[in-house]
Amino acid sequence: MHPSDTIAALSTAPGVGAIAMVRVSGSKAYPVVERLAPSLPLEPLARHAYFVPVIDLDGQIDEAVITFFPGPNSYTGEDLVEVSIHGSTYIQQRVLQAMLEAGARTALPGEFTQRAFLNKKLDLSQAEAVADLIASQSAAQHRLAMQQLRGGFGARIEELRQQLIDFAALIELELDFGEEDVQFAQRVELLALLDRLVDLSTELIDSFRYGNAIKQGIPIAILGAPNSGKSTLLNALLQEDRAIVSDIPGTTRDTVEEMMTVGGVLFRFIDTAGLRRTTDTIEQLGIDRSYKKAAEASLVLLLADASKMSEGALQTEASLLQKRIGDGPRVLPVFNKSDLAGSRMSEGVISISARTGEGLEALKEAFLAHVRSMLSGSGDIVVTNARHVDALTKARAALLDAKQAIDMGISGELLA
Ligand code: GDP
Repeated sequence: MHPSDTIAALSTAPGVGAIAMVRVSGSKAYPVVERLAPSLPLEPLARHAYFVPVIDLDGQIDEAVITFFPGPNSYTGEDLVEVSIHGSTYIQQRVLQAMLEAGARTALPGEFTQRAFLNKKLDLSQAEAVADLIASQSAAQHRLAMQQLRGGFGARIEELRQQLIDFAALIELELDFGEEDVQFAQRVELLALLDRLVDLSTELIDSFRYGNAIKQGIPIAILGAPNSGKSTLLNALLQEDRAIVSDIPGTTRDTVEEMMTVGGVLFRFIDTAGLRRTTDTIEQLGIDRSYKKAAEASLVLLLADASKMSEGALQTEASLLQKRIGDGPRVLPVFNKSDLAGSRMSEGVISISARTGEGLEALKEAFLAHVRSMLSGSGDIVVTNARHVDALTKARAALLDAKQAIDMGISGELLA
């Protein structure tokens, strides 16, 4: 593909809508559109909406609103024209066809954003944020994508990177004075800078756990003895808030998972079929599997029948479970069947009735409190992209090497 090609594509969702919008980008964007809309002026005003007929050889296709964004002040950085037409698939196809005949070619998936990146309108993390923004299905996913689109942590990394480059320059300067044993780069200051960078990369790497969970849905496992009401609870939760989940490119789900949104956050109930199976027998295999799933979750609901178990026993079971699965996930003990428990209700444990719906709001509030506690400590910057985490991990290893080198009093050549 050649960057000066003029590309055209439907920007609105395929199918019928009230309005459809076709974008054309490239050096011939305006001449291409002008062929379809001859009543447009030769010298159009920038960012001005023209309401004009669009035609092809067979006659008038539609009336369109056409806006010209001259480069570099456009999304792609090139000349870009937006053509809004009525949303019939027939009109869309005929307009696109006419554009191709006028010299444009069909854009590849993501090509508009790729051009924006190549023309430095967006950095790579922002280009990736555009994809996330388009795929976002909950308020929290949307917030993260917006934050990354606005520049995210790129600016902060760039600032620290510049300081590191300045230091490297000073160290290299020392090499020119090799015989004279001078130190331009203050090792103490360099160590302090390295510490700041290591801390920042650690913070960013840790935030991935949260960012990734927000993107994929916060995983929740429901555990509990047979007949404690696990399936009933799951159904009660999903009845109200089941999320409509479409295939997000780049995510693979090998198990069918139930998704729901609460307070704008997407939650994912992991492998509930597997958990359900353990209710049949006390088969060791099933139980091990449940523990494994619990260890992968972010939050584990330990459900117990309030009419059958004391609060002390449930708390003990919860702490045993917590020990067994490690401190990654958080175990939340929950009493179910509060409608049967009567006066045996407890203070220290959330009580619900999966059957009547009592206490479900408090339970959902506990989900959200858990999400807030995940975020605290990781600052306001969240890494959502596995490639970024990989780069940060490598950078942190290199920074730690450099720190160690200074501690060992290594020579300037090697340090540089
Ligand atoms: P699971 O084996 O943990 O999945 O438990 P189920 O969801 O199959 O529930 C076991 C039994 O408890 C079923 O008969 C449910 O109708 C009943 N049950 C579940 N939740 C409640 C509740 O909150 N109150 C009452 N009274 N019964 C419940």
